[in-house]
Amino acid sequence: MTSKGSKTSGQAATADASAALHVSDWNDFIGHEGPQASIRQAIGSSRLASTFLLVGPESVGKRTFARLVAKTLFCKRNDPSQWQPCGRCDGCVQVDASTHPDLVEVNKPADRSFIPLELLIGDRESRNQEGLCHQIHLSPMEGRRKVVILDDADYLNEEGSNCLLKTLEEPPPDSLLFLVGSVEQRQLPTIRSRCQILRFTSFTIPQATQLMLRLGMASSHEAATQLAMLVQGDIARARFWLEPDAQAFRQQLWDQCGETPLDAINLSKSVETFVGHAGEDAAIRRGRIRESLRVAIERFRSDLRARLHDSRGSAILRMRIERSIEAETQVDRNANQSALLNAWAADLQAASRSSAS
Ligand SMILES: [Zn+2]
Repeated sequence: MTSKGSKTSGQAATADASAALHVSDWNDFIGHEGPQASIRQAIGSSRLASTFLLVGPESVGKRTFARLVAKTLFCKRNDPSQWQPCGRCDGCVQVDASTHPDLVEVNKPADRSFIPLELLIGDRESRNQEGLCHQIHLSPMEGRRKVVILDDADYLNEEGSNCLLKTLEEPPPDSLLFLVGSVEQRQLPTIRSRCQILRFTSFTIPQATQLMLRLGMASSHEAATQLAMLVQGDIARARFWLEPDAQAFRQQLWDQCGETPLDAINLSKSVETFVGHAGEDAAIRRGRIRESLRVAIERFRSDLRARLHDSRGSAILRMRIERSIEAETQVDRNANQSALLNAWAADLQAASRSSAS
């Protein structure tokens, strides 16, 4: 770690995610009008708070938002109140390249469970002479202030929180600190009470569709809409389904769930194989089962919309949807994943028989 370097992380743990969500100005930033209005008004009235806690679901643009605010403040051509960084001056270019000397970004290294103390206050040899809490106190080099983005703020342990607290109690004049987390309850009350909270919400289906097209995650509006509906607007889940093996499996599962007659043995076998590719990590395996069930539910819902006139067909599909939702609620409780999938698939198949009798 260097004192000049603006990127303070063991590894670029979330760099990939932010790169994929690279947005260069507010015109390309989708949604979150509330947080935008809060900061914009505060800048306009020169009453910008020193610390913000950004909370909301994963992959909705919280970190991108913080970077765009930094860019707006560091732009050398356009006044921040215009809310339109020029994108061409040194300040803008340096923010985009993560090399701006007054922008400090810290995130949890992928191989650590918490944000290591050395990223906050330096390692043992240089305690209090390096790290976020030190850097925020240095005089700005180019801009008028320091902007610090602490991503993965959910992963501050108590020791880390206490170090940070000292900075929050006496923030340097004109400094701006963004803590990026998921829910405010993950922060100690003493931290929370010193932050202005900005709440970010999930994307709507049209917003997610628009974003996925912009990020090149889908090749057509139809494909983007289908994916957005499958993942309920959740971009992180969409990314999961775009991994090559997941993408191929999703198509296979989609087709299998639409077959007449439905083949329970093949269906459960293909889900088990997909889950097996995840290795032994139980949480990842459960996540894959849940995602598979959601694909099945979405397929049955899609078929149901097309077959509302057909009472027998729609009765079967309703049974299958209900049974899949039930299975989803059992994933966390059921240790025997194979049995759960076999019973689910068998009941999906049986739905057509029980409806015929
Ligand atoms: Zn600029």
